[in-house]
Order: sequence, then C-alpha cells, then structure tokens
Amino acid sequence: MKKCIVLNTVDLTPRKQEIFDDFLAEYLRVLNETLEHLPGTKSSTQLHHLTYSDIRKTSFLPSDIVQEARKDVWANRKTINGNFKRCSIRLNKRWFKFVTSNRENPCFRITYSPQKNFVIPVKLDGQTKRFNSFLEDGWNFDNISLLRDGRIAVVFEKEFSKPANDRRFVVGVDVGSSTLAAVTVFDSGTSKVVKQLYFGRDVANRQRKYLERRSKLQAHADKGSGKSKKYLKRLKYKQRDFIKTRSGQIAKEIVNLAKSYDASIAIEKLSIRGRRRKFSRKANKKINRIPYARFREFISSNCEQFGVPIQVVDAYHTSKWCPHCGAVNKGHGSGNYALYRCRGCGMLVNSDRKASLAIAIKSVLERTSKELTNSCFVQISNTRVPVNGLVRPDAVGSSFAVHDIDHPMESHRF
Ligand SMILES: [Zn+2]
Repeated sequence: MKKCIVLNTVDLTPRKQEIFDDFLAEYLRVLNETLEHLPGTKSSTQLHHLTYSDIRKTSFLPSDIVQEARKDVWANRKTINGNFKRCSIRLNKRWFKFVTSNRENPCFRITYSPQKNFVIPVKLDGQTKRFNSFLEDGWNFDNISLLRDGRIAVVFEKEFSKPANDRRFVVGVDVGSSTLAAVTVFDSGTSKVVKQLYFGRDVANRQRKYLERRSKLQAHADKGSGKSKKYLKRLKYKQRDFIKTRSGQIAKEIVNLAKSYDASIAIEKLSIRGRRRKFSRKANKKINRIPYARFREFISSNCEQFGVPIQVVDAYHTSKWCPHCGAVNKGHGSGNYALYRCRGCGMLVNSDRKASLAIAIKSVLERTSKELTNSCFVQISNTRVPVNGLVRPDAVGSSFAVHDIDHPMESHRF
C-alpha cells in the first residue's frame, strides 16, 4: 500500500536556491532533449538507446535521473503538447538521504550530481507531524519527488497482511448507486439483513447544484463574459475537490461501519464491458462525473489499512436477481431505474439496496463454495430463495450453500 505526503520546506539560502533551480532546469532540458527523439520510437527501451549515452555526455545529472526523465517522457507521450514547460524530479534512495541537522531539524540531503549534495530543511508543521506518525507506524519510503514549488512529496509504503475472511457479518456495498453507495449489513449466521444504508446522498444533491450553476455560468460565458469563464473554471475545480474529499470520507465511513460489526466488505468486480445499465442514459451522463474507480480504491485501501477483509465478487446477475423469490429477471421491469419489480412475484424494491444485498449474499456464497451441497437457498422472509441465479452457469462448482437457514430474514422489504 502506498501513501503520499507532501512536506513543506524552509526557504532555501540563495546559494542552495541556485542549485535547486539549476537542478530543475537541467532536468527540464533533459526531458525536452529526450522528447525530440520520441517521434517514431516504439518502446521506452528504444527511446533509452536513442538518447541515454548522448545525454550522459552533456548532462551533470546522475544516470538514474536521466532514466527517470526518459520514463516521464514515455509516460506522457500521448498527452504532451509541445515542450515540457515544468517538471518535478523523482529520486530513488540512491540520490537522497533523510537526515537530522545539528539543530535536530529533519532534512533531505539531495545528490543532484555524482558526489554533489545540497540539503533541504523541512518546515516543522502539521505535515511533518503526519510524516513522523507514518514513520512510527512502520511505513517506509524509498522514493521522493522534488516539486517545482520547493516542496517534497514522500511516497510511503507498507505491507499489510491479509486478514482471514471468516467474518459472520458482511457489508455488501453497491458502488455507483444513485447516491454513490448503497450498503447492506448481512448476518450470515442468521441470514438476516441487519441494516441498510445509503451513503453520499449529499454528494448527489451537491452535484445537481453544481451542474445548475455551471450551466448558468456557461450561458453567460457563451455570450462572452470573461468573469463567467473565470468563475466557471473555479467552480469546476471546487466540484472536483468536493467529490474527491467526500469519496474519501464516505469510503472511510463504510469501512468504519464494517469495523463496528467486525464484518468483511463485499464489493462488485469492476467490469468495463459488462457494466450494468442501472441508470437512464441522461442520469448516466451526470453520475459519471463521480470517480467510481477512485472511490473503490479508497474503500480497498482503508480495508487494507484497518485489517478489514475485502471480497470482490462477480457482478453476475446481482441487479437482476429477486431477493424474494430468487427469480432472475430481465431488466428492471418497473420503467424506473431506481426501482426493481420482479416479474415473477411482483415484489417492488429499491434497486440499489437490493443490489447491495445480493452482493453481500454472493460473497457468502463464494466463501462457502468449498462445502459443496445442493441446498442453494437462502431463507428470506418465509420463502426459501434459490440463489443459483447469482452464479454463472459455467462457474466451477456452481452449487453453493448459505448456512443456518432456520432463522428467517427480517424486514427485507426496503
Ligand atoms: Zn421475485
């Protein structure tokens, strides 16, 4: 697992500032020299052979850093437009050292050329405290980046052991519901739904407001208002920050919920091709502004950090399966994407909540699949609901069991 912390630094002395500026300028020069050889090259290695030895003859940069520049060029080959105008420099641990000054101030000693160093002192502030607490928690770093504004980005890494997935409670998460996430807490011991919740309703509302304001500003901007253009740009950034912050918070809330039940988390496999059509096209357009992939990453990294088992389940039929009779229906049947009507039994349920329940049940099925039996039922209400529909017909050992089906599931009507 990786985490990045950006440290503020103390203003450099003029002499050091000069070295810093030269270092950055030289890296930029090397980037652009490498870039000149990019057209027509077929691989990063080929680009290396075309540029490396010539650059090494003219540049004071160490070999690794010349190679980093080539990697940067290759990584940006599709998006770079004209020359590189600014840069930051990645350094591996051969080229920096974290040291403490005589006055006990943390510093980075940077080797900008073989056997040539300069020292950047770190500003003692909240970021430094975070940095120290990471060190105390056993995080390591082998890489840093010098940012052009003088700050230092530290990439922390830590390995976490995977907790055994034998929890009785499962938190099924339907990511990408109309409110960001719908969640079901499922007790596999009693086959009961303990709780169902929505997360991120405020995000959907705020999104709508942003969209309204943006379209108004856009109308003014189209008429040539410079002020509106400026506001529009600012609003765009604000919206992006808001979504990112809230996604992180909500992911944390969901993992905390799982922690409070000592539960595992089940989440759907992200499929590009077989993506469920859960929204109308119009709704999709708006909702796609939410970075779902990042949200899922937030959830899994929180799980890793806090020792919550996470299980990624196949999305097969989770949106079509009826939790009342077990039928697998085509489409939603209700004409409203938010609601699911079963064509078999007529049950009308909220699609997102139902999907999160199906995900939870499916994770229990996948987990117990080793014990092959023929009772592919989960007891819900007074009905024994066949769950076969949730499993791909070609799945290995496609019969599963849910344990302890004597206790009926409570209130499943959402
Ligand atoms: Zn049904």
